[in-house]
Amino acid sequence: MGELERKYDVKIQMTEDKVKFPDELKEQLKSSGLMDAKGKLKLKGVSPKMLKRMKQEFVECPVLEDKIQFVQCFICPNFQSRVMGEVLCKGDPIK
Ligand code: SF4
Repeated sequence: MGELERKYDVKIQMTEDKVKFPDELKEQLKSSGLMDAKGKLKLKGVSPKMLKRMKQEFVECPVLEDKIQFVQCFICPNFQSRVMGEVLCKGDPIK
């Protein structure tokens, strides 16, 4: 297989702030079965320790031109993979 088709390598950044998920994202996660009714994330293959870290990570999304929580980026259709602290992003327009 060749390299993944992608447009951007987006650096993953850390914040020390406590990050709260916007309600919209929570609903999205719940409806796709990635969050339970209590608001606990259930991502396959992600350990609780990693999850805790993931919650403090964000990217400056080149498509939405905004700071996006990594969890949201993780479930984005443009998300391809996470490699060495960067997201490989397809870069397609998001509605
Ligand atoms: S995968 Fe989605 S959220 Fe993440 S950087 Fe790309 S377009 Fe933005």
